Amino acid sequence: MTSSPTAVSTPLPTIASIDRPAVSSAPSQVRLRNVTRQYAEAGVNRVILNGIDLDIVTGEFAVLLGKSGSGKSTLLNLIGGLDEVSSGQIWIAGTDITALNEHDLTIFRRDQIGYVFQFFNLIPTLTVLENVALPFELRGRSRRDGEQRARELLARVGLSGRDSAYPDRLSGGEQQRVAIARAVIHSPALIMADEPTGNLDEDTGKSVLSLLLELTREAGKTLVMATHSAEVLPYADSIYRIHEGKLVREPKSAVALADAGIANVQHNGTAHE
Ligand code: ADP
Ligand code: MG
Repeated sequence: MTSSPTAVSTPLPTIASIDRPAVSSAPSQVRLRNVTRQYAEAGVNRVILNGIDLDIVTGEFAVLLGKSGSGKSTLLNLIGGLDEVSSGQIWIAGTDITALNEHDLTIFRRDQIGYVFQFFNLIPTLTVLENVALPFELRGRSRRDGEQRARELLARVGLSGRDSAYPDRLSGGEQQRVAIARAVIHSPALIMADEPTGNLDEDTGKSVLSLLLELTREAGKTLVMATHSAEVLPYADSIYRIHEGKLVREPKSAVALADAGIANVQHNGTAHE
């Protein structure tokens, strides 16, 4: 899609003005074929994901819905190479990650994927600046370059001056802003976000979503997000729901868009937290 949904009366200018990629002609970034994940529990197999097929193209913003326990995190963790399929195949940027050994998968994740989690997952013993710079330095780039880029990103997410703070000094919203900066610093092609606003109040969640969308959109990144926030639906290129182990594509219906006003979001880098 190439224009903002008309059902949203006053979309955020910061998001709406960003040029959107021509996703329909873009190459496939994420491809799943017949992916199954099951867990053995007390001798009984529980099938969480049952033969999932999925195609997400470069630059696409795909939203994953589903009630708690439906398998959203399981699916994201498989796509993000954090968990192993029981059967089936997953290609990321043309690489079959289900065929990689642990070492190669670690390198692949480090280079290609950025993660934003519900509980932020910052490293408590590193400063804010060090947390953000870490993925950059893990790619073999110099500490000086990493910290320079981390400072720029921290300014982008409204956290200038908090460089040397430790994560436990920050509010939830601030920690998630740090996590967003960390997720994009090494320019991964794919960003995975698992309920990134699930632990934030509504206003803080909206400003965090704006930032995440801005930073991924402007760089043409592919974003896959599990969420319960209806606000993001107008911005999604595709919406999927997991139900009883199957993935169902949801139409971007007028109802969904009308229900999902994002008009009241303030985003000025100094969010209400
Ligand atoms: P969601 O993110 O949609 O809330 P999850 O993907 O976390 O759901 O979990 C889906 C189902 O898989 C749940 O029933 C959960 O208990 C089960 N599950 C997740 N991880 C494991 C595991 N490591 N061992 C056994 N069951 C698991
Ligand atoms: Mg989950």
